[in-house]
Amino acid sequence: METKKKNKRKELGELMKNIYGETLKDLEEYFLSLGEKKFKAIQVYDWLYKKKVSSFDDFSNVKKTVIDNLKKDYSINKLTISKVERDKEVNKYLFELNDKRYVESVLMRHDYGLSICISSQVGCNMGCKFCESGRLKKVRNLEAYEMILQILQVEEDIKEKITHVVIMGIGEPFDNYDNIIKFIEIINNPRGIELGSRHITISTCGIVPKIDEFSTIPFQVNLAISLHAPNNEIRNKLMPINKVYPLEKLIPAIKRYISKTNRRVTFEYIMLDKVNDTEKCAYELCDLLRGLNCYINLIPYNETNNFEYKRSKKGTILKFYDIIKSRGLNVTIRREFGSKISAACGQLRSKKEDV
Ligand code: SAH
Repeated sequence: METKKKNKRKELGELMKNIYGETLKDLEEYFLSLGEKKFKAIQVYDWLYKKKVSSFDDFSNVKKTVIDNLKKDYSINKLTISKVERDKEVNKYLFELNDKRYVESVLMRHDYGLSICISSQVGCNMGCKFCESGRLKKVRNLEAYEMILQILQVEEDIKEKITHVVIMGIGEPFDNYDNIIKFIEIINNPRGIELGSRHITISTCGIVPKIDEFSTIPFQVNLAISLHAPNNEIRNKLMPINKVYPLEKLIPAIKRYISKTNRRVTFEYIMLDKVNDTEKCAYELCDLLRGLNCYINLIPYNETNNFEYKRSKKGTILKFYDIIKSRGLNVTIRREFGSKISAACGQLRSKKEDV
């Protein structure tokens, strides 16, 4: 078992476990196993997440023997920021992982704070027909520390605190469930990055069993569903996952989630010219979602050179919005960020790697 883990770490370009991937509880257990007091875990968290030092030698209130143990058992390596595109309201980061793979994160400046959109996998297996990220099939899941470091290193770059995290970058988070839960636990911990759970949003294409599992976690994290179509016929064409979990399975799962958690769900709906943006689609969408505690976020499609889909006309989007609004459902049109700097999901990475 240990060797298997070591081999996996070697593949990740890390010979040791990375300390940024440890929950407070993991570290407490680690110190207890060394015969040390468990409050040392809190000290370590303080150095990593409050004082933000990047070397074990800087842990000045931790005794030398403990530091030696930490050095023996953990790495404290960061990722490499390989490229940054900066704009007034948005920065786009291309990260090189320690096994020379690339993922990206997008930082957005809102009036309510600073939010970061992070990646959860290298590549993606969901195969949505309009999405750049899926052009590279999943190579591997990101480990919790690789998601944590996207946040810490962007904060380090801008010298400001990030207030909101959305897991909406490259990858399907529910296809990397255990690492995502660990990641949420670490960033939510008041001793760690201390992001309120209501400031964390996870977006899924609709993996039904994981939606059920997610409703049982002890964190009040927001859930967003990439819906993008009002019926199976259109959704099947856009999102292969719909053949496994069609709307008659997905919608009841969301109803179960809402009734269990009492939380409002967001539906994301990309507006694709002449594909899913007709008035008929708007009415169908209202029928599908009526009565659910939800809001609908209409997203103007970010066109990419690799797909033939076009963004809906402005007037069409407004008409679609009006229909939904007039039927009494909550709806917003997503403000656009970053289309100039190729911030559509997966675009920066695919420019770099040419796949
Ligand atoms: N796999 C998850 C999260 C990653 S995709 C999911 O499906 O939700 C994040 C969101 O960006 C999804 O709603 C996805 O459909 C959307 N998206 C992908 N490509 C896009 C593009 N070119 N323009 C606008 N939104 C896009």
